[in-house]
Amino acid sequence: MKAAPAEQKRLLDLAELDSAADRLAHRRRTLPELAEIDEQSKQFAQLATQVIAAETEAGDLAREQTKAESDVDTVRTRAERDQKRLDSGMVTSPKDLSSLQSEIASLHRRQGDLEEVVLEIMERREAADSKVTDLIAKRDEIASTRGAAEDRRDTALAEIDKEAADVAGRRSGVATEIPADLLALYEKLRGQYGVGAAMLHGGRCMGCKVTLSIADMNRIKAAPHDEVLRCEECRRILVRTPESGI
Ligand SMILES: [Zn+2]
Repeated sequence: MKAAPAEQKRLLDLAELDSAADRLAHRRRTLPELAEIDEQSKQFAQLATQVIAAETEAGDLAREQTKAESDVDTVRTRAERDQKRLDSGMVTSPKDLSSLQSEIASLHRRQGDLEEVVLEIMERREAADSKVTDLIAKRDEIASTRGAAEDRRDTALAEIDKEAADVAGRRSGVATEIPADLLALYEKLRGQYGVGAAMLHGGRCMGCKVTLSIADMNRIKAAPHDEVLRCEECRRILVRTPESGI
């Protein structure tokens, strides 16, 4: 393949721009914010599940409390009714009076026990409610930390996009100065090796960093200036410059 030395040198500019694009793509994939956001999303999901569990527990206790309070009311109403009967003086038989008094006493004990139950549920409910509040605060804090990391990620991505667009624009400009067959070879080699062309610098291929043998250097010296050369080691296009050492 033949191409003017100036066109061959443009391949080095192209390779540099392609490396810049690769570095930007690498930066995009490895932004520290991506790992942070991932970790924070896991924590958020865990806390959201814990909030639901705690809210369910608090809701169950609220219903339990209502039920226990209604049990207290039922017993109190019965005791009040019995007390009214006792106070009315309508129960006169000593046996009935004694039975009524003993029922009232028993209802009062029962009411006391049930009120204890209500108090115990209220304490548990208070603890459950404060657990809900704590978990919601933690969940919201993680959400806000993640929001901040997302903002930083978006800022970094926007910057990378801007740089990538600049590199792509410059690359299209350079590519138009390279003949189609040389560009196609470069692209093929870039696909295979990541970098399609390298400078011959001081007798060394800058693609694979191998110093060329005297025989190879003699072959290169003898080659016409417009001959497209390849590195024998890495197969990349080898571009001659004034610093090539020939
Ligand atoms: Zn090489």
